Amino acid sequence: MTENKQVVLDVKHLKKTFGENQVLKDISETVYDGQVICLLGPSGAGKSTFLRCLNLLDEPTAGQVVFNGQDLTALKDKELDLLREDMGMVFQNFNLFPHMTVLENLKLAPMKVKNMSEAEATQIAKKLLAQVGLSDKADEFPNSLSGGQEQRVAIARALAMNPKVMLFDEPTSALDPEMVGEVLKVMQDLAQEGMTMVVVTHEMGFAHNVANQIWFMADGYIQEAASPKDFFEHPQTERAQDFLAKVL
Ligand code: ADP
Ligand code: MG
Repeated sequence: MTENKQVVLDVKHLKKTFGENQVLKDISETVYDGQVICLLGPSGAGKSTFLRCLNLLDEPTAGQVVFNGQDLTALKDKELDLLREDMGMVFQNFNLFPHMTVLENLKLAPMKVKNMSEAEATQIAKKLLAQVGLSDKADEFPNSLSGGQEQRVAIARALAMNPKVMLFDEPTSALDPEMVGEVLKVMQDLAQEGMTMVVVTHEMGFAHNVANQIWFMADGYIQEAASPKDFFEHPQTERAQDFLAKVL
């Protein structure tokens, strides 16, 4: 699908070690504009570390992360901050600011980091709250929301910076089961609108139905990069076959 598509992220020979622990051994993969990648793999495989290396929350031990044509590993802090604004990140545990209303949570970064006027930030925040189905929660505080609502706010907050790519690290893992669907729905809508996304998830239905590509990570490598159909129906490696036997 990808030849005439723009490269958003180009990962080249990425390695990450913690002490003696070689977590990422040699990873080279490309993310194209509009692609939805689901990153699957057993616990401890290095999925979170990989995502954190993509925006340099973790500093790679070796290799490059090229984002929008710029090698992030070569940038100084200030330049890096600028590029990071174009990467939205959503974590397992929402991380909303508890002392701010939902609307204030969404307005903060656009006003502070992008010097957006309050009027414009408010307008964008309200549009995004409508998009995630939470217009009626604008003036509530996070602790009055359900987990699913909090996570939808967290997604809207990341979108408020108008990112070029969204990184999700197990966005539904901390949720009660009945709230998983509403968050996945928001993510699916986002994918359909063409957002470029890298999603670490254990939701195999989402991976199967929404991803353009599955990356299966184990033992420090991306063992398989394939279409969902190929990956789920014909996993090539024993590692992936074992994994699927456990999770499906
Ligand atoms: P996953 O998200 O796939 O479950 P992680 O990326 O969280 O895996 O962890 C992969 C490995 O890296 C684990 O062995 C973990 O202990 C180690 N690790 C992750 N972050 C750190 C850190 N900040 N310091 C030391 N070891 C870490
Ligand atoms: Mg993880």
